Amino acid sequence: MFENKKIFVLGMARSGYEVSKLLSNHNNKIIVTDKKDQDLNHIQELENLGVSFIKSENPIDLLDDSFDLVIKNPGIRYDHPLILKANDLGIKVVNEVEVAYHFLPKDVYIIAVTGSNGKTTTTTLCYEFAKATGKRTHLGGNIGYPFSQIVNDINPNDIIVLEISAQQLHDCYDFKPNISILTNLTPVHIDFFGDYKNYINNKLRIFMNHTKNDIAILNKTNNDVYEATKNIKSNKLYFSNIEDKDSKAYISDSAIYYNDEKIIDLDDIRVKGMHNYENIMCAIIATKEIGITNEQIKSVLNKFAGVEHRIEFVDKIMGREFYNDSKATNVKSTEIALNAFNTPTILIMGGLDRGHSFDELSDDLTNVIHIVCYGETKDRIKDFALKNNVECTVLNDLIEATKYAFNISNEGDTILLSPACASWDQFDNFEQRGNTFKKVVSQLMNEK
Ligand code: ADP
Repeated sequence: MFENKKIFVLGMARSGYEVSKLLSNHNNKIIVTDKKDQDLNHIQELENLGVSFIKSENPIDLLDDSFDLVIKNPGIRYDHPLILKANDLGIKVVNEVEVAYHFLPKDVYIIAVTGSNGKTTTTTLCYEFAKATGKRTHLGGNIGYPFSQIVNDINPNDIIVLEISAQQLHDCYDFKPNISILTNLTPVHIDFFGDYKNYINNKLRIFMNHTKNDIAILNKTNNDVYEATKNIKSNKLYFSNIEDKDSKAYISDSAIYYNDEKIIDLDDIRVKGMHNYENIMCAIIATKEIGITNEQIKSVLNKFAGVEHRIEFVDKIMGREFYNDSKATNVKSTEIALNAFNTPTILIMGGLDRGHSFDELSDDLTNVIHIVCYGETKDRIKDFALKNNVECTVLNDLIEATKYAFNISNEGDTILLSPACASWDQFDNFEQRGNTFKKVVSQLMNEK
């Protein structure tokens, strides 16, 4: 299927590079284009493998009907002119997840995780749990290791845990996980998908090839998930954040239950917050299918301290605790973070302006004593803060904002970076934003 073909890879980055390497071994003629400069070592390596790299803002003229396939980077919109041209020419458009899937050996077991929030945490938990069973386990997908990068290391009977975004699902066709997890649904990425319905329909593609022998793990208390998955063919196993004997896993008496059996007290879990218990329930249901024991679950959860940039504890300086939640690129995530604290909180927020409203946070400001904002959204955040009678200071960037937050803080306060916006107005990505915050905190620590 991916041999002896002429292939156009649109967008290099990490995944375009990895998929080109993967396909270069199969007698394909490949060109990769990207509008940005790329790592010269990567370009050289690809050229040594016979792959051509062309930097181009507008590669549309490079595509003609001699190509058999376009591989699109998931971040590129599906109405990109080159994709529209491929559609007109009848050239199939897929992404690297779909390609890698076709290179898997037989008898592997795939656990795939999608959802609006909690994907990375749930994927990491599934991976840690699966490893704890002693089975050979791989981690990949939208979590920093493209599927195409890991696929050659996979042996029959291995477990593969993949984080899969809605954008990746858009151009998958045959991809079929054994277990598909949908953590929750909330309206995000509307700028990419046009409307919420279209976004949900893309998320549902994670079940598109399921039969009743495959498992869907679903959030019973998220109405949009419940309604949207009514007609999927999978064997549906639910988790619920309230006691619910019809759910496979649920919370009751401050503990997590699976099959009505108590698995672990919430007090024995290091990460906190209902959202994390939901992620854990997903991972328990998934890995019970591959035989994890309660002892193995407990041992992972005693150690698991969460994933970097997700309500990550950074440091304590003179009685002030700093938390980095740079991954909170939407209002829902910031809402979750605010509900994880009951201490006076100075909230640092702001970033790329997608025109989204902050009003949804109005009910979550109980502990917020001051908002320090910066970035494209700063003036709108100020309006929002004033409307809610919360003091607010507008600054130019995160470095100033962090120092200012510390200066006005008192012992016992929490200083929380949870921006409720994407980072791209001032940073390359949320990791860079979180690392900047942590660097300022460490400088403040050294100055004290
Ligand atoms: P994703 O990969 O989907 O962006 P992450 O696991 O990286 O999700 O978590 C990002 C943020 O989303 C967290 O800091 C937290 O605020 C929020 N979050 C995590 N899990 C959940 C969940 N199950 N439900 C709602 N929000 C969540």
